[in-house]
Amino acid sequence: MDIASNIRLVLAELPKDVKLVAISKTKTVEEILRAYQAGQRIFGENKVQELVSKYEQLPKDIEWHLVGHLQTNKVKYIAPFVHMIHSVDSMLLLKEIDKQAKKHNRIISCLLEVYIAKEETKFGLSDQEIYELIESPYFTESNNVRIVGLMGMATFTDNNDQIRHEFQHLAMLFKKLKESKFADNPEFKEISMGMSSDFLIAVEEGSTMVRVGSKIFGERNYNPDH
Ligand SMILES: *Cc1c(COP(=O)(O)O)cnc(C)c1O
Repeated sequence: MDIASNIRLVLAELPKDVKLVAISKTKTVEEILRAYQAGQRIFGENKVQELVSKYEQLPKDIEWHLVGHLQTNKVKYIAPFVHMIHSVDSMLLLKEIDKQAKKHNRIISCLLEVYIAKEETKFGLSDQEIYELIESPYFTESNNVRIVGLMGMATFTDNNDQIRHEFQHLAMLFKKLKESKFADNPEFKEISMGMSSDFLIAVEEGSTMVRVGSKIFGERNYNPDH
């Protein structure tokens, strides 16, 4: 299957109001252009250097999302253009995004990454750490970041019940925050969950944004960093 058909197949399975973030990490500019020509405008990368390089080479109406772990010292490279950062997992990182966004006179949309998997390798915050971050005095002072929701990654497993439970957990936490801390904030509306192998389950559990890579671009060559 070619990239354009893959995109149409994925879109056909998504409700109209669920956004598709095409995860293009390790893929070439030519491959991304094929998706672009099929109408896709939202792309996600997990490495800062790769994201910057692709941003420079590709059409400027692409919305770039950073989905991988972000080091504070690298925020400055993406702050001029990044549309959304899915992986905010500390107050320190949020403060740095705020500072760099301010320099460019921008407001950067961010998702708080919640640790929902039963694996030690996944990044993210526990429910309690999410509350601590939101209740921190720095949080309300960060005027150049806009917290638009939560992101989570399920355990890499064939056990669909477990994956579903993890997504339910994320959706429940989102609902609780929406009704309390973000009750007056209509911008808090996104749940980024679901990848190639589990996005249908994620959508059933309330995902508003799926991050799909290999189902669009084909399998990635093995690389422990990707
Ligand atoms: C790679 C990646 C994806 C996409 O994974 P696929 O299984 O290829 O769809 C989604 N989210 C994050 C954070 C990723 O790093």
